[in-house]
Amino acid sequence: MSDCLFCKIAAGEIPSNKVYEDELVYAFYDIDPQAPTHFLVIPKAHIGSAVVAHAFEVIAQVTKDLGVTDFRVVSNCGEQAGQSVHHLHFHVLAGRDMTWPPG
Ligand code: 5GP
Ligand code: ZN
Repeated sequence: MSDCLFCKIAAGEIPSNKVYEDELVYAFYDIDPQAPTHFLVIPKAHIGSAVVAHAFEVIAQVTKDLGVTDFRVVSNCGEQAGQSVHHLHFHVLAGRDMTWPPG
């Protein structure tokens, strides 16, 4: 999608701090981190439900590589839930106490 921020990041048209990349997904640190570790895992395709399972495998691998054992995965779906970039993505947050239920 030509006017999508995350499509541009996945394509390398907008710089980002990459933690992982393969043919299906791209992972990079959030520009406005909400925890000491906060990265995003996005499918390279603007819509890519088939890669969701793979994204979670990547989350398991990257957290392990970073030495992170306790973490939270969040996906905001829709405006009311706080989604600001409309390209499927998973927030991975770690390094601080997390509240439950989330605010
Ligand atoms: P959402 O609000 O859609 O769940 O999450 C979008 C996330 O993308 C936010 O946490 C926001 O900080 C992050 N973000 C927005 N623009 C950029 C950017 O240009 N670079 C990076 N690395 N993160 C971004
Ligand atoms: Zn997109």
